[in-house]
Amino acid sequence: MTQELHIVGGGMAGAEAAWQAANRGVQVVLHEMRPKVKTFAHQTGNLGEMVCSNSFRSDDDEQNAVGLLHWEMRAAGGLIITTAHRHRLPAGGALAVDREPFAQTITDALTSHPNIRISHEEITELPEDGQWIFATGPLTSEALGQAIAKETGTDRLAFFDAIAPIVHADSIDMSKAWMQSRYDKGDTEDERKAYLNCPMDKETYDAFIDALLAADKTEFHEGETAGYFDGCLPIEVMAERGRETLRHGPMKPVGLTNPHAPEIKAHAVVQLRRDNALGTLFNIVGFQTKMKYGAQANVFRMIPGLENARFARLGGIHRNTFLNSPTLLDAQMRLRSRPNIRFAGQITGVEGYVESSAMGLLAGRLAAADLTGSTLPEVPQDSAHGALVHHITGGAEAKTFQPMNVNFGLFRPLDEPVRGGRRGRKDRYKAYTDRAKEAWSGWLDAQEAAQAAQ
Ligand SMILES: Cc1cc2nc3c(=O)[nH]c(=O)nc-3n(C[C@H](O)[C@H](O)[C@H](O)COP(=O)(O)OP(=O)(O)OC[C@H]3O[C@@H](n4cnc5c(N)ncnc54)[C@H](O)[C@@H]3O)c2cc1C
Repeated sequence: MTQELHIVGGGMAGAEAAWQAANRGVQVVLHEMRPKVKTFAHQTGNLGEMVCSNSFRSDDDEQNAVGLLHWEMRAAGGLIITTAHRHRLPAGGALAVDREPFAQTITDALTSHPNIRISHEEITELPEDGQWIFATGPLTSEALGQAIAKETGTDRLAFFDAIAPIVHADSIDMSKAWMQSRYDKGDTEDERKAYLNCPMDKETYDAFIDALLAADKTEFHEGETAGYFDGCLPIEVMAERGRETLRHGPMKPVGLTNPHAPEIKAHAVVQLRRDNALGTLFNIVGFQTKMKYGAQANVFRMIPGLENARFARLGGIHRNTFLNSPTLLDAQMRLRSRPNIRFAGQITGVEGYVESSAMGLLAGRLAAADLTGSTLPEVPQDSAHGALVHHITGGAEAKTFQPMNVNFGLFRPLDEPVRGGRRGRKDRYKAYTDRAKEAWSGWLDAQEAAQAAQ
């Protein structure tokens, strides 16, 4: 008889992982601590509860990377996405969901599945034996968080994210910005040019500080402690401490010469650092923020060189338990030090309902393959699932790793370059999504064929 698969956490990722594995004939035990042990954000004991907004974001599978993930999950018979469509509410191009019947349907589907047993209990240790998936999310219980930190080292498990905005490299105006590390530090040319710099004169700096101070900010949720303050002050809080604080912090203009105007000393400099191995994404160094999303885009586009910036993700600071996955997980989402344990969902360093469910879908299928002795071909990197899992388990910079949304910046560039401009971008996104769908369908077909042959 096949070994059981234990899944800890019945949120977006754990629910999806259980569904995928059970449908492959694996016996699943799903351990969920609610309603016995509560989190500050969940309200019910239901599986698949949405903790905040009721949106699965864009459903456009030709022009949007989130919509593409929807498409891929639907093609794989995903429980979360098909249930979301079943309880869809009118919301333009977005997939908004009637949250209560959504979670009730997920709960009923899992509870009545002949291969799934639900156990309402908190798991507080990383087990030595058996096959496990931990999908305990951003609000992983304290005892389990400690057990994970004991295994990984405390420096590789974060309890808050401090996300600086991430910009698509091809939307930065290089006639204003330039590549240079402070004081040209570094042994190689790559290191000496590791940062992208955007200069500001005094007038622009003053206007930028005014905009930061005036911008709409998000409040912390009740129960989220403010212990983040030590290491990573939001930029608007730094600005509140004094108009010159940022000029002496992340925006200091020293050790840099602007090749576009070498004789002019910049009053302040915003630095961006490469965020992925492909070099398609850059994060704005030290710019973690609690500004609302709309305000962020307006304020950051005041930075010379970023006037037309497209953001792969905007900044934030949240209570969020997540692993330094690039150093801890292998490409199969297994803990390198304990391969009987996989992680899935937001704890792996993805962000959002859709991305978390997608990582649950992968983990469920990968674990089922291990347990049934079948070999899965590698998750294709050209698919949205593959681009995301590749990013978190290897493509991202480990030193500065912060949670990531799916976006086209994570995709391998197209073999055939597509022309620039707005029309060109549409063609490029269509080419990415066509390529992804083909790769993903091929991956799913290979699994069906292998299962049929067994
Ligand atoms: C306050 C807040 C607001 C958010 N708002 C949004 C939003 O608007 N949109 C969005 O896309 N994302 C939002 N997120 C992120 C969102 O939570 C995740 O994207 C998504 O729910 C993650 O899915 P998951 O399965 O990884 O974790 P979850 O959905 O949180 O599921 C984890 C499950 O594990 C259980 N669990 C935890 N520890 C244990 C344990 N030791 N033993 C057993 N069970 C355990 C929890 O009870 C929970 O049911 C928000 C997060 C927070 C904290």
